[in-house]
Amino acid sequence: MSSPAQRFTGKIALVTGGSRGIGAAIVFRLAKEGAAVVFTYSSSKSKADSLVSRIQSEGGKALAIKADSRHAGEIEHAVAITVEQFGGLNILVNSAGILGLGSVDDYSVEQLDNMYVINVRAAYVAAQACSKVMNRGDRIIMIGSVAGARTGFPGSSAYSMSKSALVGLVRGLALDFAPRGITVNNIQPGPTATDMNPPDAPYLEHVIALVPLGRLGTADEIAGMAAYLASDDASFVTGASLTVDGGYLDLKPV
Ligand code: NDP
Repeated sequence: MSSPAQRFTGKIALVTGGSRGIGAAIVFRLAKEGAAVVFTYSSSKSKADSLVSRIQSEGGKALAIKADSRHAGEIEHAVAITVEQFGGLNILVNSAGILGLGSVDDYSVEQLDNMYVINVRAAYVAAQACSKVMNRGDRIIMIGSVAGARTGFPGSSAYSMSKSALVGLVRGLALDFAPRGITVNNIQPGPTATDMNPPDAPYLEHVIALVPLGRLGTADEIAGMAAYLASDDASFVTGASLTVDGGYLDLKPV
């Protein structure tokens, strides 16, 4: 692949939830900058295969693995396959996540548990698996949400809770990994144009009113922050939760 910046030549990355949306943009960006990228998906095989083909056709290296983040063993297996196929693992981006909305009156404990397992527990499991194979200078990046910092509308308590958990997780992981020179950070995207935020979503008008820049973000804009955090430029950034959100507010401006 031809790009002026080849910051990740020789690096090996694993992106969970890389078949679509923000994860796919991060996969493409890291590959474009020279990394060999493995990514997981749970059901979108054809989208995953297309992304691999696109990267390979531009001279990059990519491998898609079906691994459901609900199962710890499948995440651990994805880490093991990455190391086996490419000889190591330098950059983990945990992007797999789901959005569940509903008032506390009717959002069930079963729904809450499912979201917790994917959005929170899987992030811990992936970091734990990486702790066995990562070395000095390597990077762990979580994809949280601005909802972990500010909650702009009712019905988002469970999702906000799951993303707030990542704020604490990266603070703790940053301490565990610091002696080994591995950084751990959390990107908090604002509303971003993906399947999770389709153009016909009933809440979209309300959401855009909360964004001073007046639009949804793009997956590429989130990928830019991921590439920065994965790069040598971010060597002194750890334990941080960084918003990329167009200035997202939690109340409509008057
Ligand atoms: P999308 O719904 O567009 O894509 C979700 C991705 O996660 C897909 O690749 C999907 O795989 C994967 N995924 C979902 N569940 C699982 C699972 N159980 N196991 C493995 N992979 C899974 O979402 P976005 O790209 O919008 O979101 C990516 C991350 O960014 C999420 O963590 C989300 O919470 C966060 N985020 C998104 C925002 C937005 O506005 N879009 C705002 C703030 C945060 P498959 O294709 O196989 O289903």
